[in-house]
Amino acid sequence: MSQQYDVVVIGAGPGGYVAAIRAAQLGFKTVCIEKWIGKDGKPSLGGTCLNVGCIPSKALLESSHKFEEASHDLELHGVNVGKPKLDVGAMLKRKDTIVGNLTGGIGGLFKTNGVTHLAGTGKLLSNKQVEFTDHDGKTEVLDATHVIIATGSVPVNIPPAPRATSKHWPKHITDRSSITRPMSSAKITLRPIFIRLWKISALFMSASTAQASAPAQKPTAAARVHTHWTSSKT
Ligand SMILES: Cc1cc2nc3c(=O)[nH]c(=O)nc-3n(C[C@H](O)[C@H](O)[C@H](O)COP(=O)(O)OP(=O)(O)OC[C@H]3O[C@@H](n4cnc5c(N)ncnc54)[C@H](O)[C@@H]3O)c2cc1C
Repeated sequence: MSQQYDVVVIGAGPGGYVAAIRAAQLGFKTVCIEKWIGKDGKPSLGGTCLNVGCIPSKALLESSHKFEEASHDLELHGVNVGKPKLDVGAMLKRKDTIVGNLTGGIGGLFKTNGVTHLAGTGKLLSNKQVEFTDHDGKTEVLDATHVIIATGSVPVNIPPAPRATSKHWPKHITDRSSITRPMSSAKITLRPIFIRLWKISALFMSASTAQASAPAQKPTAAARVHTHWTSSKT
């Protein structure tokens, strides 16, 4: 027999988890289905924003600001800390801890508000039924009075402006592989997200250029933009 819910939410990004919590607070029997698997191989809530987007990029950006401050600004205050060195591992660990705390926090909010969390994939059927498939492939059908689809979005390919493939852009853009390599100017758009990532990438480029002490090497485009930004204090 299928399970009956007042509200079935598919997706636990900022759209879905807030809707699920609010529905439960209003007294609806609510379930939220989420398929995301975190870096640790475990189901994770929070969607793009908490796992790989807003939160990790801001965590890394804050680290890049600290590095910049230690490199230049502190000296102006008469605080001399010497030449700072980047520890990429520690920086990424801090970012992962923040992500873990926040995604775990949503699990806590689900519990306290009485939202059932199902880890796996939801598929809308006819007649307000949702098929749930867990990560082991086991399926069950849920009956819903209301269904909220909060599955986020993925880029589509527009032939005149083909989207970046994994060759150009790794899946998780706040991971080591993407932040420690220079971004080509062709990949830059005016979106704030890319500007933020560009700034983080620029930090690595300027730091690694300095650490390799290769004066003949031309600074990367990212390092030049970083210099421009830090001098204009945006
Ligand atoms: C690097 C980066 C930085 C960003 N910074 C900001 C920022 O500073 N401020 C800001 O406002 N926005 C920012 N964004 C955008 C923000 O992340 C998105 O707008 C937001 O995550 C959208 O929320 P959502 O709930 O609609 O979708 P998502 O967060 O994408 O969540 C959708 C969820 O649905 C799940 N899902 C999809 N299909 C199924 C299915 N069939 N079954 C079960 N689960 C499913 C997905 O696994 C996912 O977890 C950033 C994005 C990126 C990539």
